[in-house]
Amino acid sequence: MPRSALNLAPAITLENIKDSVSQTKTLENMVPHYFNRSALHIERVQDRIATLCCIDSRWHPGLVLGQGLGASYGMRNIANLANPNDPEMGANLEYLVSHKKVPEIMIMGHTDCGGAEAHMMGQASQHVQVWVNNVIPAKGSGAERTRILTNLKSSCPDDYEAIRRQHEKLCLDHSAHQIEQLPFVAEAIEAGHLSIGKMIGNMHAGQLEILCDSLSSLRSSKELIGRFAHFKAEEWKPDLAANGQNPDALIITGISPYLSPEKLFGIQPGDAFIYRNLGGRYNYTGSSDGLTAAIEFAVAKGVKEIIHVGSVGDVNQSFADGDLDAFSLVTEFLDKGGLGIKGAGLAQRDVQQRVSSGVVNSVKAHPAIQAAGDSISVSSIVKEHETGALLYLDPDHDDFRTISAPSVAI
Ligand SMILES: [Zn+2]
Repeated sequence: MPRSALNLAPAITLENIKDSVSQTKTLENMVPHYFNRSALHIERVQDRIATLCCIDSRWHPGLVLGQGLGASYGMRNIANLANPNDPEMGANLEYLVSHKKVPEIMIMGHTDCGGAEAHMMGQASQHVQVWVNNVIPAKGSGAERTRILTNLKSSCPDDYEAIRRQHEKLCLDHSAHQIEQLPFVAEAIEAGHLSIGKMIGNMHAGQLEILCDSLSSLRSSKELIGRFAHFKAEEWKPDLAANGQNPDALIITGISPYLSPEKLFGIQPGDAFIYRNLGGRYNYTGSSDGLTAAIEFAVAKGVKEIIHVGSVGDVNQSFADGDLDAFSLVTEFLDKGGLGIKGAGLAQRDVQQRVSSGVVNSVKAHPAIQAAGDSISVSSIVKEHETGALLYLDPDHDDFRTISAPSVAI
C-alpha cells in the first residue's frame, strides 16, 4: 500500500546506522558531508554534456573537470567502455542523446587503468574478461599473453608501460566507435547535433591529453576542461598512480547531474570506485554485464562497502509514470528486475524503495558478495530532491528511514 511521508518509519541517526551495519567507514564520511550544505551549489552549464569514464577511485570526473553539481551527466564503468552487448549502454545513450539531446559525449580514459591492464595481460577475472572482450576481443591465449607481458614488465618496464598506454587508447577508440554505430547517435552526429570527444588523463603527471582528431569537435566540454587547472592546483597530489588503489567502497548510482558523488558526498581521490548507469540500477542475472564485472573487480581489490545512492523522483519515476515510453532501449532496461513500478500509481518514495531494494538484493546475490559474507556490507541511501532529506533503506524493515542531520556537520 502506498505510504505518505507522514507514516514513514521513524528517523535514524548515523550512530544507529553504524550499530546495524558492519562496515561504514565511507558511509560515515558521506553522510555529514551531505548535510554540510554550504559546500553545495547547483551549477548550470549552458549545454549539459555527458561523460563516460572508468570507475577508478583516483580519477573522478567531477573533480578532474571541476564539474559542479548539475553540470554534466556521468556514465562510469570498468575502463570507460561502451559494450554493444550490454543493454545498459543502449539505454544510457538513448536517454542522453534522443531524450536529453546532449550536444557532446566526452569519453575520458586514464593511464594506469587496472581493468584495461588485467584484460591486456589475460589476467582479468571471469566477468571482467568477458565484459571487456565484448568491446576489445583478446588476441591469442591468455596464458601466453600473461607470460610474455610479465617477462616484458620485469625486463623492459618502459616498453611494458608503453603497451599499456596503447591498450588504454584502444579502449577509447573502440568505445567511441561502438557509440557512433548506434543509429540514433549516427543520426544526431550527421545532423550536427552531437559530437563525440576523447581524452586521457595522465595520473602520473597530472595532465589531460585531448586526442588530436577530436580537438575540432570540442564544443560544450571546453568549459569543463578549462577547469582542469583548478584540479591540478588544488586537489591533485603527485603521483596518483604510484601506489595503485585500495578504496574502501564501491558506490553505485545514476547518471543524473545531481547525483555526482564527488560533490554530493565529498568523495576524494582514493575513497571509492564509482559506477554510474541509468537510474542507478542493478539486476543480477549471472551474465557478465558491466556492473557484475565491476562488483567482481571491486571485491577483488578489497572493498568493504557497496553503497547504492538513489534519488526520489528521478528517471525511475519518469519510467513508472510512462513518460519514457517513446524510448524502447530505456524502457527495456528500466523494466528489468520485476519491480512492478510502471503504471502502478505508487508514491514517489515507494517507487524508489522498490528500486533501492532491487539493487541491494541483486548486489547481495552476486557470487563475490555471497562469498564475502559479513565482511562486506551493502547499503542504500537516497536523496529526496524536493525536501533535501537523506533516506536510509533500513534492512530490518526494507523501508526508508530519514537520516537525522549529524549534530556537528563537517
Ligand atoms: Zn580504469
